[in-house]
Amino acid sequence: MAQCNYVIVGGGQAGCRAALALRDADRNGKIVLIGAESHPPYERPALSKGVLKGSALPQSVIIRQLDQLAEMAIETHLGQAVEQIDVASSEVVLDDSRRLKFDRLLLATGSRARSLSVPGVNLLNIHSLRTLDDCLALSESLQSCQKLVVVGAGFIGLEVAASARERFGCQVTVVEAGSGVLQRAAPDELRSAVQTLHKSNGVHFLFNDGVSRFEGDSKLEHVILASGRVLKADCVVIGIGVIPETRLAERAGLEVDDGIVVDEFGETSQPNIFAAGEVTRHKNLFLGAPTRRESWQVAQNQSTIAAHAMSGLRKAYNEIPWFWTDQFGHNFQLIGETGPTLQRVTRIYDGALKSTTFFLDKQAVAGAQSVNSGKDIRLVREAIRRGMNITPEQLADPTVNLKSHLVRDPVLW
Ligand code: NAP
Repeated sequence: MAQCNYVIVGGGQAGCRAALALRDADRNGKIVLIGAESHPPYERPALSKGVLKGSALPQSVIIRQLDQLAEMAIETHLGQAVEQIDVASSEVVLDDSRRLKFDRLLLATGSRARSLSVPGVNLLNIHSLRTLDDCLALSESLQSCQKLVVVGAGFIGLEVAASARERFGCQVTVVEAGSGVLQRAAPDELRSAVQTLHKSNGVHFLFNDGVSRFEGDSKLEHVILASGRVLKADCVVIGIGVIPETRLAERAGLEVDDGIVVDEFGETSQPNIFAAGEVTRHKNLFLGAPTRRESWQVAQNQSTIAAHAMSGLRKAYNEIPWFWTDQFGHNFQLIGETGPTLQRVTRIYDGALKSTTFFLDKQAVAGAQSVNSGKDIRLVREAIRRGMNITPEQLADPTVNLKSHLVRDPVLW
């Protein structure tokens, strides 16, 4: 069989995982990975947690070093952007005008941080946190920061607030447009637990407010809020969400709808062009409706599905959504369905702050959220797939062994 030319645009987690999966699936194909950042491919979750807190080294986020990729015959072009996809000639055009031919193309272009368009936003010590370089620059600023203002009480804002208090002892004020933390992402119990944790660790919140301008003499000095309030600040972090990086796809005429639209195999509206990771609005059989998810899980696993489809192995993406966050030494996780109409049952463990709330749909476990009880989340994943014979009373009882109530899987038992 003739050698297949695979080109991957995007050198992040999704692009790298796809390259590794492609190499497993096709020993002879030519694989080219192109990324705008100059670092080897890396994962982002630790940037706002361990790396910023100083408990993890920056190198620990690297997925594969360049020599390891080269050993697998994965050719890398890092620090290079793709300017255009020429669909008619099946080529990508690099920023130095070179053209690379592809038989199958994967777009794993991720997202970019949303910026605030207010006066003064370019002053020194105003940061966003998306890349490893952003993380290193922010760590440097925080060394000498007494007063930190965080804009946005989403995951970035809260994880940065926690890391800044824990490692640098900054006074932290979080300014949020909504009326509470994590409004987009989490059920009430989790939001309230996280908010209480931050308050008890000295984080100050200003809700229903926003920034009208930043002031300072080259370096940031004050943040002026929409309410008129003036906050003294040495450093600001803006964490107000991300925008999927769909510009290349749009220019190439692919279907885009707040994300590159792909099916359950990662295939776009254009034959031989695939997309992976958080840039996609993808079909997940578990959820039914197409969705765009900004999570580690999608970058890790939907990219593998797309890579397999590129090599001819078609297996549909079918994953129970899951994510986690670590703040002030506590681990919070969410899995499956956690909507407001579901029945909730909470199990509280003795001792340290540790609990799991189960979400039931007609008696069946459909999802869960956990505080420092990640082991339950693994069992809930099994329960959603296989079923669990358990009453709400037993779920609420921390002495009841959940594992023993899982419906037996004929393959595993
Ligand atoms: P996010 O989770 O979407 O949160 C952004 C927050 O900022 C929202 O509460 C939003 O409120 C608020 N906001 C928007 N515009 C604002 C403004 N002008 N002034 C004040 N507040 C404003 O986004 P993020 O925290 O920036 O994180 C970026 C992405 O990385 C997200 O997709 C996130 O899921 C991901 N991430 C995930 C993790 C994790 O899973 N542990 C950790 C870090 C980052 P409205 O909703 O009212 O707009």
